[in-house]
Amino acid sequence: TSHKRDRDREVPVQVVLRCRPLNDDELRVNAQSVITCNEPKKEVTISQSILMQPDKTFTFDKVFGPKVQQRSIYDHAVSPLVIEALEGYNCTVFAFGQTGTGKTYSMEGEMKSKVNELSTNAGVIPRAVRHIFEILEERKVDYSMKITFLELYNEEITDLLATEEQFRFYDERQKRPICLLEDGRGGEVIRGLEEVTVYSPDEVYSLLERGSSRRRSVETAINKQSSRSHVVFSINIHMKEEKWGDEELLKYGRLSLVDLAGSENIARSGAKEGKAREAGEINKSLLTLGRVITALSEHSSHIPYRNSKLTRLLRESLGGKAKTCIIATISPSSFCLEDTLVTLDYASRAR
Ligand code: ADP
Ligand code: MG
Repeated sequence: TSHKRDRDREVPVQVVLRCRPLNDDELRVNAQSVITCNEPKKEVTISQSILMQPDKTFTFDKVFGPKVQQRSIYDHAVSPLVIEALEGYNCTVFAFGQTGTGKTYSMEGEMKSKVNELSTNAGVIPRAVRHIFEILEERKVDYSMKITFLELYNEEITDLLATEEQFRFYDERQKRPICLLEDGRGGEVIRGLEEVTVYSPDEVYSLLERGSSRRRSVETAINKQSSRSHVVFSINIHMKEEKWGDEELLKYGRLSLVDLAGSENIARSGAKEGKAREAGEINKSLLTLGRVITALSEHSSHIPYRNSKLTRLLRESLGGKAKTCIIATISPSSFCLEDTLVTLDYASRAR
């Protein structure tokens, strides 16, 4: 209805759905696809005949089927937020979905194949970085860019850009050197987090690669941590534009790109009595994020940012004039049906 459409324009949260192709493992065990993507109608239908249930259809702001390439995801879902960030707003992109459905592939993908050239399988982070540098160079403004890259696990922050010595020290002591503090003006400051000033896309790609490989090395040490942790990559841009005469216009924009913990963590939280508490801590950020986004899209007067670290540290990038895009990722496989339903439910409610 037109009423719904008018409201949509104000809604700061866009939710797009991406379904990956069946992979070799799934094909080997004869998995059937239970997902039908109707891209023009922006609908996804899940067949539940194996559960003796009727089909269910969900609507999103955009739907990307299994054949859609990395470039289209960037062009259609993320590049509008990059433009906003360069106008001086804070924007956030989340990847949300079951482990193994393509969150990291969508966010990072394959890194560059050659110097100065992105792989066709590069994800939205390297594409956003390249795009931001291109626009800034074109505009001939004075600018500086700083990158932060952190991991949030069990409500504790790890700096993925810390120097090797710092990193080893953190690990051995199992300390919490990174603190999130309220600045007394409604914002949050992260004490002790590395902010790296960068001058070229290639520099950013290597920071991204270094940080990601660090995440993977921790993953083997702490079993399956990565499926339970959130990773936040932020690009902070200070711009100084010359106006007529000697007037100057200062703008500050931020783009945060967040690879969230697996959505299976929501379904399984509290499932087993003994583990309920641990699961609760691990999922606190994921559950709170869902509540914050629902509150924002309902224009509620109370937004529960303070209830988790993830929503605290993204506070200035969620709500207000900030724009948010959620890329919900699913597998088409019949074996993933239950987790896919959780993702579709949670993601479609965020709109
Ligand atoms: P997640 O981060 O959600 O756990 P990954 O991004 O690691 O999942 O994806 C799991 C595997 O599936 C990876 O090998 C990845 O390359 C592959 N994959 C994910 N999405 C796609 C896609 N749209 N097209 C092709 N391969 C994909
Ligand atoms: Mg991943």
